[in-house]
Amino acid sequence: MDLVAREHSRIRTAAKKLDISDDVVDVLIAVKRSVSFAIPITLDNGRIRIFRGFRVQHNDALGPFKGGIRFAADANEEECEALAILMTLKVALLGLPLGGAKGGIDVDPFSLSRTELERLSRGYVDAAYPILGPERDIPAPDLGSTSQVMAWMMDEFSKLSGFAVPASMTGKPEAIGGISERIVATGFGGVVVLKEFLGDKDPSQFSVAVQGFGNVGSYAAKFFAQEGFRVVAVSDAEGGIFSNTGLDIEGELAHQEVKGKLDKSRCWPLLASREDRSIECKNITNEELLALPVDILVPAARENALTSANAKNVKAKYILELANAPTTQEAEKIFAEKGIVVIPDILANGGGVVASYFEWAQNLDKLRWQDGSLLERLTKMMQGAAREVKEMAEQEKLDLRAAAYRVSVERIAAAIEARGLGS
Ligand code: NAD
Repeated sequence: MDLVAREHSRIRTAAKKLDISDDVVDVLIAVKRSVSFAIPITLDNGRIRIFRGFRVQHNDALGPFKGGIRFAADANEEECEALAILMTLKVALLGLPLGGAKGGIDVDPFSLSRTELERLSRGYVDAAYPILGPERDIPAPDLGSTSQVMAWMMDEFSKLSGFAVPASMTGKPEAIGGISERIVATGFGGVVVLKEFLGDKDPSQFSVAVQGFGNVGSYAAKFFAQEGFRVVAVSDAEGGIFSNTGLDIEGELAHQEVKGKLDKSRCWPLLASREDRSIECKNITNEELLALPVDILVPAARENALTSANAKNVKAKYILELANAPTTQEAEKIFAEKGIVVIPDILANGGGVVASYFEWAQNLDKLRWQDGSLLERLTKMMQGAAREVKEMAEQEKLDLRAAAYRVSVERIAAAIEARGLGS
């Protein structure tokens, strides 16, 4: 089953149990607007190259559309639709007054120079301008896009509008109304959610492996380590590193900041002592990472990372889905049989959109919260959503994904019914 059909089926299952009418479900599922456009840019060598841009606006029953723009060679409309549906569900689950959207450009951002990337980012906004805006649809970064990309996009949107519009994009640099916490928010929020499920258990009893060391994975690893968990493995697209005593995540982050990737030649364990021969430290593949005997496995890279082919090797007790849609349905069945608890993406990785919402709200109000309360507010919202999902799961005897969909679908359906179904 493809990703879109899978989301439709999950929404229909939740709606059936909630006695929501088929008409409401049809409205909930229907994509409100989907556009695809050519973005021709002049390369540094003077040649023209045409990229394809996408924006799928799924549902805005609860508020303006919100969702990232993915820069990836294989970005496509269908993937954007599935991810837009996940956004609709996520913002509703978190109780935000927003709807769901997603965009993309079929580009490998590392294949372009900085100036080419700037022209491409501006070209995206030129093409999508009529459907974007602080009250319409507010993009954010996603896989392969950065705060610099959002700065160029905000600038282009402002030029086309004739005045500065900071609230048009989130995930911007602080210099133009961004918030410093945005970059850490998804990873931070994931750790908050996981702790909610662990209750008062001592974090130092738990080992963690994180697949993907980008925006999300690297900060998740940092906060896991800060909270006392043992982060024994991390990886990026080229492979990973493992140490049985736990890795020096701060050291890896410092290297990543300079070099843009993990330092696999420098596998220093946290409690490094060259004389202690019980300390193991080695390079591993991504497949080996997924099969490690850890307590918590964190897919934080791409969708469909956990499939029928590798799910049977997974030994973790918890899977914290920080990537969007990292688990195929076949893998999910295997995890259920093995008793592995999957904390679903729409809950686990919601911290990013909560921080984006805070950024947008401040930009709209033309003020900055000065009390340093942002991560505290984010913690409360993530804890609240996690508790709702836990209660629904216990009450209705559901797995956590099914419970999260029930909470979310009920909220969106109520908004659709209140606003009226059609003209
Ligand atoms: P990113 O581009 O910053 O980082 C992606 C990381 O994954 C990189 O380290 C990359 O090397 C690695 N990677 C790519 N392919 C891989 C593979 N096959 N195996 C192992 N590692 C691989 O992206 P990001 O912003 O960290 O997003 C990661 C995931 O989290 C995506 O699914 C995204 O949709 C989701 N997400 C991101 C945010 C956010 O705030 N950025 C919020 C919610 C969900």
